Amino acid sequence: CGIVGYVGSQSALEVVTAGLKRLEYRGYDSAGVAVLADGGLAAAKKAGKLVNLEKELTERPLPTGTTGIGHTRWATHGGPTDANAHPHLDNAGRVAVVHNGIIENFASLRAELAERGHELASETDTEVVAHLLAEEFSATADLAEAMRLVCRRLEGAFTLVAVHADEPDVVVGARRNSPLVVGVGEGEAFLASDVAAFIAHTRYAIELGQDQVVELRRDGVTVTGFDGSPAEVRSYHVDWDASA
Ligand code: GLU
Repeated sequence: CGIVGYVGSQSALEVVTAGLKRLEYRGYDSAGVAVLADGGLAAAKKAGKLVNLEKELTERPLPTGTTGIGHTRWATHGGPTDANAHPHLDNAGRVAVVHNGIIENFASLRAELAERGHELASETDTEVVAHLLAEEFSATADLAEAMRLVCRRLEGAFTLVAVHADEPDVVVGARRNSPLVVGVGEGEAFLASDVAAFIAHTRYAIELGQDQVVELRRDGVTVTGFDGSPAEVRSYHVDWDASA
């Protein structure tokens, strides 16, 4: 339902949870976050309102990091439980992904992954993406390339945002038939399903085109098609009143 991603020098957890709050009006049944810190990946997710997640984060704080992603879920596949909440991780706990939309061919991908020894921990259509990204990353050591390879295998409508512990200053996003907007700041960059999530930080936005992948780093963003071809970037200035 709502997606936020951040890379920069602020606490990613703070930027991401504040962004998720700005997206609460859209409705959701669960929420979760993941941050990269100390060479690893840490995640927390809870069914129910954001206050449940905040309580969890108070009781079991995550390490502080400057790269992170967050999600508010409106369940389509699998009930609104902690396990089905996003982010979803691979078995090694090195990659985390959040998703809006529906992966139509998830059943065949799940079966294929199970055959290769992956253990799936949720009932969602989303989780296959974390496992596929982990496989492609171990072959390419490049999260944006892994995302392009995975997206070519997916059917349906999706916004995907992912991080990998082995690329600690990168957030990758992708979209097909579902919105994703990039925010470009000074030494920081944002991804969100809606500009409302980052308008407090920057008003320079890039609307991602259909079937495109974006790689976010502190010093800039790179946009390509799912096939790897460079994409033309259209940036614009968000001039509506953020307090409205
Ligand atoms: N289909 C995914 C799920 O059920 C994503 C739902 C959403 O867009 O929030 O977990």
